[in-house]
Amino acid sequence: MSSNILGIQLSDKDKKRFWFKVDIKGQEECWNWLGSTNGGRYGKFKCNGVWYRSNRVALVISSGKDIPNNLWALHKCDNSFCVNPNHLYIGTPSNNNLDRENRNRAPNAGRPKGISDLIISIVRDLANEGYTQNDISRKLLMSQQRVSYILNIERYRNNV
Ligand SMILES: [Zn+2]
Repeated sequence: MSSNILGIQLSDKDKKRFWFKVDIKGQEECWNWLGSTNGGRYGKFKCNGVWYRSNRVALVISSGKDIPNNLWALHKCDNSFCVNPNHLYIGTPSNNNLDRENRNRAPNAGRPKGISDLIISIVRDLANEGYTQNDISRKLLMSQQRVSYILNIERYRNNV
């Protein structure tokens, strides 16, 4: 397995446990995540001791394939808790940013100076996916202090 693959290993039991936390509805409807969240922003699911975003796990289960870690599971709908595989697609973080701008809902409130929302969300996602602050700082070529600052800003903003 190539090193840029996160390698989510899901047993049948994990899959069952995952769908048990989903409000499964019709093919075209949003399926809301009922499990744990990251400060009420995204669903998260723990597997083999690592937290993954629930939308990513939904796509991995439905496609039977892993998603390279430079790509994200993005929403066609505007519901970040939705894990209906029909509402998800694989794209880059910049697709996501573009979508967000197109929908004109880029959040600016509370944004630390000089750090874009895109960077904040990338750092947050990597942290959610189990990367340490040191891993993230090496990956994104930013200091560990800055990574820590971004994660703490998010924590204050989300009140968690
Ligand atoms: Zn949806």
